[in-house]
Amino acid sequence: MNIKTKDINNLKDIVGEENVILSEEERYCYSYDSTRLEYMPDVVVRARNTQQVSDIFKYASAEKIPVTPRGSATGLSGGCLAMEGGILLLMVEMDKILDVNPVDLLIDVEAGIITEKVDIEAQKYGLFYPPDPGSVRTSTIGGNIAENAGGLRGLKYGVTKDYINALEAVLPNGDIVDIGTRTVKGVTGYNILDLMAGSEGTLAVITKATLRLLPQPPAIASLLALFSTIGDAAKTVRDIVSNGVITSTLEIMDQVTINAIEDNVGLGLDRSIGAMLLIEVDGQQGAVDAEAEVVKKACKSNNAVSCRKAVSDQERDEIWTARREALSSLARIKPSTILEDVTVPRSKIVEMIEAVNSIAEKYGLPIGTFGHSGDGNLHPTILTDMRDAEEEKKVEGAIEEMFRVAVDLGGTLSGEHGIGISKARYLKMEIDHASYELMKRIKKAFDPDNILNPGKIFLD
Ligand SMILES: Cc1cc2nc3c(=O)[nH]c(=O)nc-3n(C[C@H](O)[C@H](O)[C@H](O)COP(=O)(O)OP(=O)(O)OC[C@H]3O[C@@H](n4cnc5c(N)ncnc54)[C@H](O)[C@@H]3O)c2cc1C
Repeated sequence: MNIKTKDINNLKDIVGEENVILSEEERYCYSYDSTRLEYMPDVVVRARNTQQVSDIFKYASAEKIPVTPRGSATGLSGGCLAMEGGILLLMVEMDKILDVNPVDLLIDVEAGIITEKVDIEAQKYGLFYPPDPGSVRTSTIGGNIAENAGGLRGLKYGVTKDYINALEAVLPNGDIVDIGTRTVKGVTGYNILDLMAGSEGTLAVITKATLRLLPQPPAIASLLALFSTIGDAAKTVRDIVSNGVITSTLEIMDQVTINAIEDNVGLGLDRSIGAMLLIEVDGQQGAVDAEAEVVKKACKSNNAVSCRKAVSDQERDEIWTARREALSSLARIKPSTILEDVTVPRSKIVEMIEAVNSIAEKYGLPIGTFGHSGDGNLHPTILTDMRDAEEEKKVEGAIEEMFRVAVDLGGTLSGEHGIGISKARYLKMEIDHASYELMKRIKKAFDPDNILNPGKIFLD
């Protein structure tokens, strides 16, 4: 127990009694995220404004109490779990839209806002917010920035960091900092803004964000391509891009995943096919039509069984429902679902998929694979029962082998879910010693007493 009665009283003074959660039952609700890990916080504190966050940190740093920020807990590496107990800081009440500037193409929001709400607000001005994680309806902007979330439109539009113009954040000593600019350019001093993206809630707590918006594309075409084998689908991914088309979305799904979605939501997908690609092109109407033709040709030359363009909004919705239901559908099959996010250069996607399939066979583990294939980012999802020690051993072997293959192919352990707790022991497989030590020195510069989200990323 890191917390004493006087600490609780001080926290109540800062945020009000109603925002300090102490009962075991309620704290338990905040002890897990979207991994299978659990850590119980000593106290859960709801912050409603930046000053409260700052005051909490001033107190916590004086008393050396760990503080772990938490958005919607959709994270897939354990980042928002209070590994060393202490204060779990809930950011979801800070969820206001503060300003939209359609000339500067900027939106100001509080960090606890749900990602989709930013896009919905932007649409009122004929604009959109491009980062589109599969969890867009539940995750927060603060969590997206902390994980540098990618998403379904990453191939053409990039990831969260590409849309952060400025941030307000609170440092572990309670200082409030404003980072970045409201301008298109800005090179004054070190680029701390980019350091924040992907810092996994270990350097500062983000309280407000100024995000970039783009004009909505006038035309969109969605296509669904079916293949007998996942190898043919993967080759098509390569060919679409090498034929000069950068699609806004290029998602892949294997047969295990398709069948799981059918069992769960019943969209009428063909269970017999080996894989499908979900593709979207956007832009001016003429360009969209021309690009859709290139996509169709690439599908055909790789033996697609069919490649169909959605002709109605309903058909388009069905395509995207299929994609968004992938993980929840796979998660219904076995007691444990271990979702990985290995990422390789796009040119190596065929080799990575082949390796995942042979690892599944070698360890006798069912693996459903889906993901942002245009980004080379796959989510091989192991369906297992981690209560069984034998299974657990097999899963660990399979994961380690997958990571090794990804790194050997010039890829990375994590394209978008971060290191957190679950991948900390593999970090040195990818990062050289000098870079590892540099990262630790950066952490120390921000957080000399290691009170902010301790236990994450680094094992020592
Ligand atoms: C069904 C599903 C689909 C998903 N699809 C994608 C996808 O397509 N792309 C992708 O990248 N991820 C995806 N994810 C993972 C997850 O949604 C993202 O990592 C997301 O960014 C986490 O946001 P959150 O608000 O839930 O953060 P949390 O899980 O609450 O926290 C994640 C990390 O952010 C930190 N944090 C939270 N808020 C703040 C803050 N205000 N300041 C500083 N640190 C903070 C936490 O300490 C933690 O380290 C998916 C998850 C699920 C369950």
